[in-house]
Amino acid sequence: MDYIRKEADGQLVITQSTDFLKIPSCLYGFMNHSTTTEITKSGRTAFCFHGVLDASEEAIICHCGCKMHVNNHPGILLRHLPFGSYLSQVKFNRNQYVCPSCGKSKMQFISFKASGHRITEELYQYTRDLLAIGTYTNKEVAEITGLGKNTVKDIDKQRLQELYTIDGSKLIRPEKTAKFLGIDEFKLHNGYKYATHIIDMETGHILWIANGKKKQVVYDFIEHVGLKWMDNVEAIACDMNSDFQEAFEEKCPHIQPVFDYFHIVKNFNDKVVSEVRKDEQRRLIMEGDMESARSLKKTRYILMSSRKTLQRKDKDATEQKIVSKGSSLFGTENYIRKGGLEERYDDLLNQNKLLFTLDLIKEKLTLAYSRKDEAKMSEDIIDIMDTCRASGNAHLLWFERLIDTHFEGIIAHATYDISAGKIEGINNKIKTLRRQGYGYPDDEYFFLKLFDISRKTYIRNPLSHNICD
Ligand SMILES: [Zn+2]
Repeated sequence: MDYIRKEADGQLVITQSTDFLKIPSCLYGFMNHSTTTEITKSGRTAFCFHGVLDASEEAIICHCGCKMHVNNHPGILLRHLPFGSYLSQVKFNRNQYVCPSCGKSKMQFISFKASGHRITEELYQYTRDLLAIGTYTNKEVAEITGLGKNTVKDIDKQRLQELYTIDGSKLIRPEKTAKFLGIDEFKLHNGYKYATHIIDMETGHILWIANGKKKQVVYDFIEHVGLKWMDNVEAIACDMNSDFQEAFEEKCPHIQPVFDYFHIVKNFNDKVVSEVRKDEQRRLIMEGDMESARSLKKTRYILMSSRKTLQRKDKDATEQKIVSKGSSLFGTENYIRKGGLEERYDDLLNQNKLLFTLDLIKEKLTLAYSRKDEAKMSEDIIDIMDTCRASGNAHLLWFERLIDTHFEGIIAHATYDISAGKIEGINNKIKTLRRQGYGYPDDEYFFLKLFDISRKTYIRNPLSHNICD
């Protein structure tokens, strides 16, 4: 018999008779006698394998010691592996036993049924494999397997609990000791509640993750790993706007807090650059200069980018124009006439002296954070503080006080050189994961998912790279 038919063009064809389809014997004890096709609720085609269970069971004995009798023979349907884009399921009857003496009942054991789910063990394992690869979102896994989003979530949660918890809820202790830790808070799904994570700054692995952003998170972490483990930790990177470092210092006085580049720039952008821009816009509106006020509105990105980034973007844009339009002069001319991002940046600075000061401070911060010598870094930081004070601007004076009260932890960066990349990487992973969505909201699952993702290499643009671990 010819199973591959030319007219089908390589596609699986459903013929009148699907009796020739026999499923692999991994379904131990299941005898397939006929096969039909059905349309599922989601509108997909599914092979339905009808059969019987080989019920050669030993005598079923009740807890009370009495021999149980077959009372009923109810039908059951288990979802099974998909065949290409077609789904499949097995349908059979199983025995229900009842005890003649105490009345207790019991269902026949099915060796190939995944416990807790109406699916076969094969489909359960296949779903876990897909999830473990880490390339597919839960929605994609649901589509491939034909399972509901919440079933996929349950299977994934169970997989992660087995990997990263001791008894389903208590996180495993760190695999190895850490020299540098990083602590940061992030917003949960609804944007009101916060959670905190503690990472190993060298591996990027999340070691602890919990609800809230209070000192208690730190106390709980220290209790989790133990004081002996904490002895190996030399420094902790954190935001200046938190009291996490105090909690660490209380319990482990040997630990040096370090205020990293990522957070200091974030504070500067959010609390100074943004506010100065808003003030300036208000002033222009008050003076009736609507056109300048409007042009300032779109400058937030330009002001917050470093000059290097703008230069790179301009270079990319120019090169792209030449590539896409060949050597046509029109393309490049057009670009130059409009002006690049860096040119626009300089225009903005010329318009406003205060913006120029912000630019200067940003460059000084980058320079200060490149120092490997605490004395040199202190000179740079003191210089930044002087510039802030000289400006007389309220937001810059706030920034100067922030630096002053965290001075030691800032210049400690020259010694510990904690890279900002790891914190940024984790923050980006959190954002990506939060966007994806999966079944009903479940913080515990979200935390485990982050725990898992932090142990995989961060890929900025997964579409253009091969997935590697
Ligand atoms: Zn009994």
